[in-house]
Amino acid sequence: DTVSLTGAARAAALRDEAQAIAQELGRAHGVQPRLVVVVATEDESTAWYVRSITRAAGKAGIACDTVTLPADAEAGTIRKQLAELSADPDVHGVILQTPLPPGTSAADLAGAIAPGKDVDGANPLSLGRLAAGLPAFAPATAEAVVSLLDAHGIGLAGRSVAVVGRSTVVGKPLAHLLLDRDATVTVCHSRTADLAAATRTADIVVAAAGRAGLITADHLAQGAVVVDVGTNPTEDGGLTGDVDAESVAGRAAALSPVPGGVGPVTTALLLQHTALAAQRAVAAHQ
Ligand code: NAD
Repeated sequence: DTVSLTGAARAAALRDEAQAIAQELGRAHGVQPRLVVVVATEDESTAWYVRSITRAAGKAGIACDTVTLPADAEAGTIRKQLAELSADPDVHGVILQTPLPPGTSAADLAGAIAPGKDVDGANPLSLGRLAAGLPAFAPATAEAVVSLLDAHGIGLAGRSVAVVGRSTVVGKPLAHLLLDRDATVTVCHSRTADLAAATRTADIVVAAAGRAGLITADHLAQGAVVVDVGTNPTEDGGLTGDVDAESVAGRAAALSPVPGGVGPVTTALLLQHTALAAQRAVAAHQ
């Protein structure tokens, strides 16, 4: 039987950790960790995601505000907003939500987020530091994959991992996190000549392509562990992953569900990062 790699327990533990830090900062310093999400889209699924972060933040004792810019905001306007939040001592974490207005680049704009407040690892400096083995916040989704595997006791050292997707927010940072854990990493993408051949030899397959049903039994070795990062909207308003769960049942030893796998851990990590950022900001001013 395929084990379900659910994220709820790890997410709860991370929220508890964030809450403990928030309580201590409140008690000792009268400081509440504050996260600000900058949105410049009318996209419905983005609005849904931001509401879920806000709800989770509330439960953890972290303040969460949304700054909404027009869906056709210019790069300069967004950069100025990020710079203001980066300079505001009452703000500890800043997230620039995607999608962004046409013609703007997330990696370029996120350069305006102070690295110490870059809780979703979006500033190119954060990715560079990650690649160089220096302390930095990792993109929450990439870190969530490793955190979910850790939570379920799945080892990484010496094992082969195929990552499907090479984006700046998921695939690339995840490859660095996995290398740091001594995994042997293969990164696949839309131009990979034979995807199934590349994934079939892996102990662990991470699907982060944004293509519903991309990964089937044909892509897996018997007993592979599969982490599904994909969040593809379904016609009935739900979410489905990149893995064809029916097809891989019986072949995969374990599979993370969508929703309920990587997603909740991602959100909880954003809160944990914000609490850590606030803790460091307070310590730096003592
Ligand atoms: P992206 O579109 O930026 O990148 C997709 C990557 O997949 C690209 O590198 C592309 O080369 C590769 N790809 C596309 N089609 C492929 C194919 N047929 N075969 C092999 N590779 C292929 O997407 P992203 O921002 O990295 O997000 C990936 C998925 O993860 C999306 O479904 C997104 O919604 C989801 N996501 C989930 C969370 C979460 O918290 N669960 C967070 C961020 C993104």
